[in-house]
Amino acid sequence: MSINGTLISYYFICKTKLWLHANRLNLEDNSEDVRIGKVLHEIQEQKTKKAEIKIDNVKIDKITKEYLVEFKKSDSDPEAVKWQVLLYLYKLKQKGIDRKGKIDYHEKNHNTKTEILELDEQNEKELLRVLEAIESLINLPKPPASKFENKCKKCAYYEYCFI
Ligand code: SF4
Repeated sequence: MSINGTLISYYFICKTKLWLHANRLNLEDNSEDVRIGKVLHEIQEQKTKKAEIKIDNVKIDKITKEYLVEFKKSDSDPEAVKWQVLLYLYKLKQKGIDRKGKIDYHEKNHNTKTEILELDEQNEKELLRVLEAIESLINLPKPPASKFENKCKKCAYYEYCFI
């Protein structure tokens, strides 16, 4: 399976969620958070007058001369976003395009924050290890056991896991 930005971010958010999503148990279309994310995304696209750029199976928000830019509505999962952007930088590099990553957080309360990151030798090796681990995980015959955490309350799979 070709790993996209959603799958790699779920690896860091919740491995049960990763398995459920990868195995097509998709309950997320009705989640309010997912809908808000989509709307914010559309607004941001209109502001920048640029549509997403699609490379293989990943959608990139924006590319400038120096940066690949990812827009986010919250900084609640910074590790997941970091690896998502590193995956995009890796996919670009495979096409012969070298960029740094820029994550622009635009939160609901109008707070904004920017983070810059680079794909270096060390995190590229780690990325390849993570991609292998994701492949193994989604090929498991059943999902890893659910563990309740605060974030579960907002997760589209909450009912599946706990009710
Ligand atoms: S409800 Fe919690 S354990 Fe279940 S998939 Fe969502 S985040 Fe993971």
